[in-house]
Amino acid sequence: MNFQRAKEEIIRYSRLIWERGYAHANAGNISARTTDGSIIITPADSIKGELAADELIVLDNAGEVKYVKGNPSSERYMHAGLYMNNKINAVIHAHPPSTVGYSFFKEAIDLSPVPEAGFIPFVAMIPYLSPGSRELSDTVSENAGDRGILVLKKHGVVAFGDTLKECFFYIDRLEYCVKIMKELRQ
Ligand SMILES: [Zn+2]
Repeated sequence: MNFQRAKEEIIRYSRLIWERGYAHANAGNISARTTDGSIIITPADSIKGELAADELIVLDNAGEVKYVKGNPSSERYMHAGLYMNNKINAVIHAHPPSTVGYSFFKEAIDLSPVPEAGFIPFVAMIPYLSPGSRELSDTVSENAGDRGILVLKKHGVVAFGDTLKECFFYIDRLEYCVKIMKELRQ
């Protein structure tokens, strides 16, 4: 994906996670990897429904700011670690409230009663670790794969895959499945 396309896609899906209620206040961060190996990411402390393309930050493959001034997301090393260890080109971190609520009471995620869950190739839960910490970024990249979603207990989710559309679908489907599970009281 070239720079311009990556920026357009990040703005589009930032707005979508905001509109769907998956990124309250300044929560959530989105990135995409360009064909030259750079990572484009949303800035820290930003409202995801109001971002402009020139506010996005360009990082190198280790997560360090490359050539756009600004303050990148505090989770940039989590994104960089995911790109380093997996064959992916897109990452969305969000706080979908039903999924986060579910994670308070469960140690693992079991969506097997809901057929829709079959469209999520991989889903697992990791223990609570401080947002923005090295420990969280290491644990996420160790437990991720080439496509799917991790639930960060009492915090949020991280979806990863080839495109931002795919990542968005994983988050939206997971939130739907968790809501159905609540209806089923499981
Ligand atoms: Zn978060």
